[in-house]
Order: sequence, then C-alpha cells, then structure tokens
Amino acid sequence: MESFLTQNATRKQTAFLGVTALIVLLVFATSATHARVALPIIAPFMPMCALTVFTTSGIATYLLAARFTATRQPVMGALGGAYAFTALTVALQLLTFPGVFAPTGLLGAGPRSSLWIWVFWHGGFPSFVILAVMARHRFRRVSIPASAIGVWAWLLIAGPIAVGAALGAFAIYFDLPSPLHAADNGNLFAIGTTARVTWLLNIVAIVVVLLAGRLRTVLDQWLWIAVLACFVDTSLNLLTATRFSVGWYVARVFSMFAPGVLVCLLVWEVSLLYRRLFDAHAALLQTSARDGLTGIYNRSYFDEQYRRAFDYAERMRAPLSIIMIDIDQFKLYNDAFGHLKGDACLAAVAKALVGVVRRPTDFVARYGGEEFAIVLPDTDLRGASDIAERAREAVMSLSLHAPTSRGYITISAGCAIAGQGGASSPEALVEAADAAMYRAKNAGRNRIDLATTG
Ligand code: GH3
Ligand code: MG
Ligand code: MG
Repeated sequence: MESFLTQNATRKQTAFLGVTALIVLLVFATSATHARVALPIIAPFMPMCALTVFTTSGIATYLLAARFTATRQPVMGALGGAYAFTALTVALQLLTFPGVFAPTGLLGAGPRSSLWIWVFWHGGFPSFVILAVMARHRFRRVSIPASAIGVWAWLLIAGPIAVGAALGAFAIYFDLPSPLHAADNGNLFAIGTTARVTWLLNIVAIVVVLLAGRLRTVLDQWLWIAVLACFVDTSLNLLTATRFSVGWYVARVFSMFAPGVLVCLLVWEVSLLYRRLFDAHAALLQTSARDGLTGIYNRSYFDEQYRRAFDYAERMRAPLSIIMIDIDQFKLYNDAFGHLKGDACLAAVAKALVGVVRRPTDFVARYGGEEFAIVLPDTDLRGASDIAERAREAVMSLSLHAPTSRGYITISAGCAIAGQGGASSPEALVEAADAAMYRAKNAGRNRIDLATTG
C-alpha cells in the first residue's frame, strides 16, 4: 500500500512546505537580531518546554518504531532512534538543570552538566538524522527479514538511548569546563569549538537531508523542517545564553517544533490509514454480499439477513413475507441464445425485480441459478402478492424475446408468510413459498400463487 509519508509530495504539499520554511527563516532572522532583548519572566516556561519535547519525542519514537516493524524500512527505525535520543537527553537536561527540581540539579549534577547535556542533545539529534538518511541511501534495497525485525528495532532505538545515557553520565560525573564560554556575545562566529561543532552538525544535517532526498517525499520535506527547527533552536541558544530573552524564548519554541512536526505528520498518516481501512472494509463487506453476475445480494447475504429478519419478526410478533421467483423455461433461452445472452437476461430480470421493492428493509437476492427471493419484513400475504404481481409485470414488460410458449421471458412466483398461522421456521417459510411457486408453474407459468399453510 502506498504510504502518505513515503509517496512523492504533491505541488500543494511542496508549496505548503515552502511557506513553512520561509516562516521559520523569517522568525529566525527577526529573533536573531533581537536575541538578547529581555522579555517578561515566565519561570515554568523552560520545564514546560522540556516536558513537551520529552513527550512528543517519546511519541515520535513509538510511532516511528511501529512503522519500522510494519514496513521494515531501516530509515524509520533509525529516525525513531534519533527521537529516542532526544527524549532521553531532554529528560536528563531537565533533571540536572539548576533550579528546576533542586538548586544544583538532581543526579549529583555539577554546575555545567545540563549545559553539556544540551550540547549533546543539539549535536546528537542532527547526527542521528544524518546517519538515518545516509543509511537509507546506502541500504535502499535492503529489507530486514521479518524474523529479525524485533532485534533490529531494539538495536536502532536502544542504541541511541545507550549513547545518550553514556554522554549524560559523562556530563554529570566529570566536571568539564563550560562548552559555551564564548557564547552570549551575539556573534555566532565568535563561539567556542564545541559550540561551533554543534552548530555545524545542524548545518550538515540540513544539507544532507536536502541532498539525499531532494525533498521529494513528504517525509523528506518535514524531516527537513525538523532539522531546520533544530538549527534555529541551536543558533538562537548560541547567540544568547540570557534566560527569558527573545532568543531564549524562541529557541525553546523551536525545540518543541522539531519532534512536534514529525508527530503531527505520523498522526496524520495514522488517521489517513484508518480512513482508508474503514473504506476498504466497507467495500469488502459490500462486495462479499453481492452476486458477481447480477449485482444484487447473493445467497450468503440472503441466508444471514433472512434469518435475522425472521428472528426479528418473531420477537416483535410482526409479519414477514417472502416471494420465491423462478424464470420460466429459462433452459430454452440458454439453448437458443447461449449462456452469455442468458447471463445478460438474468441481470436484466434481477434489475427489474429490484425496481419493484420500495421499503428500505425489503431486499431482493439471487437464491440460485435463475431463482430469486424477495424478503418483505412487516408485510402481510396480500402485500406480498401485490409485490409479486408487480414483479411478474415488470419482467414481462422487459419484452425479452425467448423461444418459450409465450414468446418472451416471464417468471412464476410463490408467496408465503411467517407466523399468524403461517410458517414457523425460516426453512418452513422458504419451503412454503417454493411450493406455491411450483403450483404457479404447474398452473401454466407466468403467474403467482400464495401459500395456504405454514
Ligand atoms: P421452468 O420453467 O420449469 O423453471 O424451466 P427452466 O428451463 O427454467 O428450468 P430448469 O431448472 O430446468 O433450468 C434452469 C436453467 O437456468 C438451467 C440453466 O442453464 C440456467 N441457469 C442457471 N444459472 C444460470 C446462470 O448463471 N447463467 C445462465 N446463463 N443460465 C443459468
Ligand atoms: Mg429453477
Ligand atoms: Mg426456471
């Protein structure tokens, strides 16, 4: 099945992407020039953002891993790993951030631990995306065998988590010098080496995602927006370390954007798939209930719905009538014109029969070869005989020329009713209608007859 994520993007989707990228860059340019302007202090903003990043990254990991196990495309598992890494590092950063849970941070963190974890997060995410995109390019034709998918899912998700945990432990237990000592001077070109490497990794990710996929698929397009958002987040953070400044606030908003955009995309795809599944199921039910030749309900639909209608009528003490119909001397028609013409005749008769029932609860089904049944809930024998008569006239007025005694196609019909002195079981009701139909045949065909007893 063609997936929304991996199908080629439409012009409209590409235009939407272009507008989004433009907005991202405009917001970046505007906030970069005012990066250090102080804004009102909203103390819970930072933990709130970190929690959002953690949750959305966790959801993105789950959805990508689920996609990986279903499609066996390694890129999905690898991207899931990139988001798993983000979820872990943002959680560690929040726990070790001075002043959030404890004045000096939890887990025995030093004063610069959370800063280093921030560096690992913003350098690690683009690095894992680069690896995922390159792996897709390299293993384009490789499909992981179904038996190994579980192991691979664990490797691709747990691998980056282990790397994140090791880096976090490294940042917590070693009292490293500040990685961003030259930041906060408003000049991205005067930052220290660590900050520069982090920043460059983000630029490389933007270029790699752009060149590897050329923004052809929907996934490529929105993955590109995700790395662009991470780049804006990183750049603004490197431009200003001053908390509650324009750059600081906008950077945090973009940190939520990077996983958020993928989650929106994946959830959108899930709802799209759900809609398709629902339509396919409805279409399947419809096809399985229809007769291939005439297009009306088939025998298995009749068996199920007739029994249901019978039980309902019995429970409600309401009448239920059926009409059994058989085409007269149909063998002669087949013998004269061949089976293909015979099939067309059957379809025409079926259409005529469908035209005579009016209520939504009535239905016409092909019972056997050239036999049809009409089920009429809440209809007494008189009503049924009216409909049978209408059916006989409708078939006659088709004026289908035939080598029969009348010279055209006709039908014979038998009507019967359940309950109220009529048939007491579904089988008895069919038998009674069948017997009436054969009486009509014996009486000269092209006529109807009514059952007398059940
Ligand atoms: P009667 O008036 O007694 O019902 O005569 P009849 O010729 O209709 O009865 P019979 O049961 O002997 O023949 C039924 C014929 O219907 C036999 C068969 O060739 C034809 N028939 C049954 N199913 C199909 C079908 O799907 N397509 C075509 N073309 N013919 C069919
Ligand atoms: Mg027959
Ligand atoms: Mg017949």
